[in-house]
Amino acid sequence: MTGCLFCNIVARKTPAQLVFENAHVLAFTDIRPVAPAHALVIPKRHIGGVHEATAADAEMLGQLVLAAREVAEGLGLSGTGYRLVVNQGPDAGQSVFHLHCHVIGGRSMGWPPG
Ligand code: AMP
Ligand code: ZN
Repeated sequence: MTGCLFCNIVARKTPAQLVFENAHVLAFTDIRPVAPAHALVIPKRHIGGVHEATAADAEMLGQLVLAAREVAEGLGLSGTGYRLVVNQGPDAGQSVFHLHCHVIGGRSMGWPPG
């Protein structure tokens, strides 16, 4: 989508530190990490957020979570654990309106989230 930051990363118009890619998704290091390990996994096809997803997106959503698992493995988080976060809308603090799953790890985390 024109003007979408993450579509521009998919199109290689905006640089990012890529950590994983397959036919469906791309993953890259978050530019403002909140933990020692922090990556974002995004679908290559634009969708604004999880609340825009329909049954037709089921395959893509599955690919997103499986890729997040691969990314966590690649970041060495399998043993210590990690958190997957998908922010949706203002109360969750979503700031980029292209669906993305945060993969966060490398330190212990509190619950509930702030
Ligand atoms: P959210 O607040 O859930 O919408 O998350 C958006 C995330 O995108 C934030 O963690 C930002 O640090 C991250 N971000 C914004 N711009 C970039 C960029 N150019 N490259 C990598 N990560 C980015
Ligand atoms: Zn986009």
